Amino acid sequence: MFYKILILTVSLFSMMSCSHNLPDFTTRLSSRLPTDSKAEAIGEYSLGCLKGAQTFSGMEKGLVLSQMKRGRYWGHPDLIKLLSRAGEEFYNSNKKIIIGDLSQSRGGPTLSGHNSHQSGLDVDVWFKILTSQDHPSLRDLETKEMKPIDELGDDQLKLIKFMAQDSTVERIFINPSFKKKLCLNSGSLKLTAEEQHKMRAWWGHDDHIHVRIKCPSDSPLCVPQRPIPAGNGCGEELNWWFTDEAKAESAEASWAELKSLYLEKIIKLPAQCSFYSDT
Ligand SMILES: [Zn+2]
Repeated sequence: MFYKILILTVSLFSMMSCSHNLPDFTTRLSSRLPTDSKAEAIGEYSLGCLKGAQTFSGMEKGLVLSQMKRGRYWGHPDLIKLLSRAGEEFYNSNKKIIIGDLSQSRGGPTLSGHNSHQSGLDVDVWFKILTSQDHPSLRDLETKEMKPIDELGDDQLKLIKFMAQDSTVERIFINPSFKKKLCLNSGSLKLTAEEQHKMRAWWGHDDHIHVRIKCPSDSPLCVPQRPIPAGNGCGEELNWWFTDEAKAESAEASWAELKSLYLEKIIKLPAQCSFYSDT
């Protein structure tokens, strides 16, 4: 009897400790290769994974990668193509854009930084725009150079407009204060109703925009997000972002909260994402 209790206790303890231990995913996942298969975005933007992820060839024009050690520079080919087109556009005026996180090599949740970016269809692009003569070090791109901005200048507006005009782009998350400025100056900035519609206010995002592309046609298991409500996003819903309620919701999650959310997501990933945790 004693041994039975002991075994039960030990196995219960090991189950508990197992479920409370973080898998060694953070470093391992970022350094693994993508699956060797046709590219496919699976599941939701905030609960999914990515097969056959692609990255940049290094020959793209007008693009600079930042935060490379995070290993989140993998995406669906549609996303890589979009960024290549954007880089080309800026290259033609002797400028370069700085790319932040896309997804991990097999997509999936991350412990820090993002709720979404899980299926290779999300990317952060920094507001800081470089000239073709700028060659910041990787260290600069991770720290001091990447500051929030106060105003949207011509370069930032060009970036926003380029993304909003692209037919593959589903929505763009932008700081509420910037969204307000875009709404107030819609006419002088020559923003169409469709472009305004795609730009949605979201917390943070004062140093970058977050661009989300549509579910690609080659990805039947990709789950589209609920459509953006009709309208230009400049009405009552924008005012909410300046309320105390909105500010309260922006409070940073604690490490313990991040960790349990991460574990919860790993468990809830679609069955087709089982390759995510394969070695
Ligand atoms: Zn983002």
